[in-house]
Amino acid sequence: MANIRFQALQTVATRTIQEVNFPSNKISEYFGANVFDKKKMREYISKEAYDSIINSVEYGEPIGRDTAEQIASAMKAWAISKGATHYTHWFQPLTGTTAEKHDAFFEPTVDGSIEKFTGDALAQQEPDASSFPNGGIRNTFEARGYTAWDPSSPAFIMGRTLCIPTVFVSYTGEALDYKVPLLKALSALDKAAVDVCQYFDKSIEKVYASLGIEQEYFLVDLALFNARPDMYLTGRTLFGHMSAKNQQLEDHYFGSIPSRVYAFMQDFETEALQLGIPLKTRHNEVAPSQFECAPIYEEINLAIDHNQLLMDVMDRVAKRHNFKVLLHEKPYAGVNGSGKHNNWSMITNTGKNLLSPGKTPKNNLMFLTFFVNTIKAVYEHADLLRASIASVNNDHRLGANEAPPAIISIFLGSQLTEVLDEIETSRISRKAKEESSLWQGIPKIPQILKDNTDRNRTSPFAFTGNKFELRAVGSSANSANPMTVLNTIVADQLRKFKVDVDKLLKKGEKKDVALLTIIKRYIKESKIVRFEGNGYGEEWQQEAEARGLTNIKTTPKALDALVSEKTQALFESTSVFTRREAHARHEILLEEFYKKLQIEARVMGELVNSVIIPTAINYQSKLVENVKGLKDIGLPESSYEAQLSIITKLSEHINFIKSNNDQMVEARKKANVIEDVRERAIAYDETVKTFFDPIRYHVDKLEQLVDDALWPLPKFRELLFLK
Ligand code: ADP
Ligand code: MG
Repeated sequence: MANIRFQALQTVATRTIQEVNFPSNKISEYFGANVFDKKKMREYISKEAYDSIINSVEYGEPIGRDTAEQIASAMKAWAISKGATHYTHWFQPLTGTTAEKHDAFFEPTVDGSIEKFTGDALAQQEPDASSFPNGGIRNTFEARGYTAWDPSSPAFIMGRTLCIPTVFVSYTGEALDYKVPLLKALSALDKAAVDVCQYFDKSIEKVYASLGIEQEYFLVDLALFNARPDMYLTGRTLFGHMSAKNQQLEDHYFGSIPSRVYAFMQDFETEALQLGIPLKTRHNEVAPSQFECAPIYEEINLAIDHNQLLMDVMDRVAKRHNFKVLLHEKPYAGVNGSGKHNNWSMITNTGKNLLSPGKTPKNNLMFLTFFVNTIKAVYEHADLLRASIASVNNDHRLGANEAPPAIISIFLGSQLTEVLDEIETSRISRKAKEESSLWQGIPKIPQILKDNTDRNRTSPFAFTGNKFELRAVGSSANSANPMTVLNTIVADQLRKFKVDVDKLLKKGEKKDVALLTIIKRYIKESKIVRFEGNGYGEEWQQEAEARGLTNIKTTPKALDALVSEKTQALFESTSVFTRREAHARHEILLEEFYKKLQIEARVMGELVNSVIIPTAINYQSKLVENVKGLKDIGLPESSYEAQLSIITKLSEHINFIKSNNDQMVEARKKANVIEDVRERAIAYDETVKTFFDPIRYHVDKLEQLVDDALWPLPKFRELLFLK
């Protein structure tokens, strides 16, 4: 019987293209069909209840009991009309995925049964959740947490279940999810940004953060994926020799999309659109079998919910097409990794994008205020931003094959760099009577920036015309984490800006002079974080070091910034995390880090012992038989020299792999008994993970040496080139 690899390849050869059912020819006819959005709410509930929920969404005002009852019964009616039988609170625990626990609407009564859904059930639920990661926040006697409805993200139907987006908190009020801190950060940003907006425009009452998430992913045939235990247990290949052809011809990027993939894309997009996810673009990415999709940007909380939902939908729909979606940051060594570019801006209730350069100098002063404060915030808290994107998967990606390095820097483009340089060196005219003379020496900012198209893809944080793009986020990450940090640091910075400006105003300085003076100071102070050159180059690593920028390459050390004194002060002043919450999160992330390495090390050990080495020995035995036979028939040694040399090489590789794997097991045992979780994570990083590459190197040599017919793991050339 053929080995598992050949069985899988046979299966792949029989694949056909799945049909896609479109609800209608026009997307506008089914967009949001499965969402209980404002329009549907208005149909189903009274005007008072509707106004109350809008107030809650816009201004965080509490929703009364009666309103909750009304909304619950409206949601139920709508959901049942769409065929839903169950409901669930949908939340984002710190495991990084989403969680749900379904309850039926159905309830037996004395004389039969009814479909029931109360305001209480809508508002709050108690998932028996003591097994979600909580970093020691919940000890046994307070082991309960509850989920509470987040009205700012609309309910939706998945399958036959009504899903209600919720936050997840412990009974002692501590956040156990990604959403609570995000919402707190957004509220801090709103307040700080509105205060600063008052210098320019009194009519601004609310500032939203906007977010557009580009999602990169790989696709692999399901049968091949299932034939690779490393892939289905860790999400990435632990072994595999590079395919002779990979991305060197650069023929995949923006190339035509393979038909089977195209069907999959249309299928998941259709589901996503019905869930109100405004998907807009799709294309091939740089690596073979790598793709990207992106929605139109939305209010940030919704954008993040939608991205979490999208990852779920993609995963589910992929099975219908016999694909597996790989959201791992680095599924294949030596090939590009996947990121999740977070395009972020701030937008007012009056519809103004605060990061969009304006027409007039006055407008541009407003733009410069928010622009420069964002730069200053990133400069001040670069290490925290670095921590927010840290994960074991992203460690493989950052700084390798066309991914930004672990150094946080900002790319502005030549035009805005010039603008900031000119402000930095210009003299602010204090005596200016007219605005125009104040602005002498201040360059004009063109509305359409040429750098908008002249992208520097190597920067982790780039200004792209009217938004910043955080590119360092990993493809599988929940964006809430980095976005909580970004919004918090900008909020804090804007508050400090206001204090600084107000001080000058008190001294009798003119408003524009005061604003410009502080902007100028910030430009100077944050200058070293700006970098326009090639972020992938070795020279940048050296220059960054000379500038005093940090380059923290691994997660356990990057995470230190989460609990540093500077960060504590930031989190406390913005009320985003309590000290206890920050420490809990720190612990959870460290645990996740070493546990994932532990799993990878175990999988590696199992595979080399029970798959790789036996395969090599099997082949070696065949060669030995062959040599014996040749000897038997009286041939001279020169006629089996090649066989002998292969036999020897096989032994060398086998020995190396076996002894290194044994040493890795020992290193693991030592690491496992280290009490302190940070130390344990570092030990895993520095004494266990260090065996991965050498072991892999020798396994990959075996892959090249052993008879192809015997090799049991699908090879890179098979995984990477979809049929
Ligand atoms: P790219 O060339 O990097 O693909 P796009 O211009 O296509 O960039 O935009 C990428 C993402 O940025 C999209 O999701 C888009 O909706 C989003 N985006 C555009 N403007 C803004 C904004 N003001 N705030 C946040 N995201 C934005
Ligand atoms: Mg982009």
